[in-house]
Amino acid sequence: MGRRMAVDRPLPALIRFPLPDGGKDSGDLFYLSSGLAQAGFIFWEPREWRRVVGRRREVELICTFVDSRALRDWKKSASARAFFKSHQVEPLVCTTQDLLLDGDDVQTCACKSHEFLYLARQPFAVESALICGHCRGRLPAYALKAEWGVGSWDHAQRRVTDLWMRSDLYESWAERQLRELSSDLNARGRDVARRVSAAKGIPVLYVLYEEIDGPRMKCPGCRRAPIATGWPFPAKKCDSCLLAW
Ligand SMILES: [Zn+2]
Ligand SMILES: [Zn+2]
Repeated sequence: MGRRMAVDRPLPALIRFPLPDGGKDSGDLFYLSSGLAQAGFIFWEPREWRRVVGRRREVELICTFVDSRALRDWKKSASARAFFKSHQVEPLVCTTQDLLLDGDDVQTCACKSHEFLYLARQPFAVESALICGHCRGRLPAYALKAEWGVGSWDHAQRRVTDLWMRSDLYESWAERQLRELSSDLNARGRDVARRVSAAKGIPVLYVLYEEIDGPRMKCPGCRRAPIATGWPFPAKKCDSCLLAW
């Protein structure tokens, strides 16, 4: 393993826009931030503030770019270009700030090539999904193809995890979705992993929900003993079933 490990990190930013004159308030300014989030440049749930600066009205968008490449390239995204064209505005400022950010342990993989990947739920991190098997950095969403279905599976697993954690209606249903290898959620996740694997020509292991009542000593697919990964999580894997946990 002589390869250099390079990491990149999320970058909080403040972007300001003048609001067009004529009072057309800007529900549709939200399309910029949701478009950037959809395309994987920023994390979901950015904050938008409106304010009056002198005689001009402005919007402030406080968001977090997923890494330095996203910060460099966001203005070239289709949603940003369409937005600037239709509103005839340019961003006033775009700076990273020392904002508190709950993503300090999120790293972007910058490895030159990949031997294998994990498809993993990370319900507490700002973004989940494809993880490099070598450095465990994530592959940012803008590097993924929509047809692989990673984003829609990721959205579903977050909602299911949320239902489970609320310990209310649907809790036991959600737990079965997370726990059972053949549940709709896990079947979809394994299908997504197969699609990514076919597209990239490398194995993609699907990471299962960690049992809360004790570690799995056998692979839930083939019942054979797993291999240790050397990481705290996923700690074990089965290469023949393409599962990890
Ligand atoms: Zn990597
Ligand atoms: Zn197995």
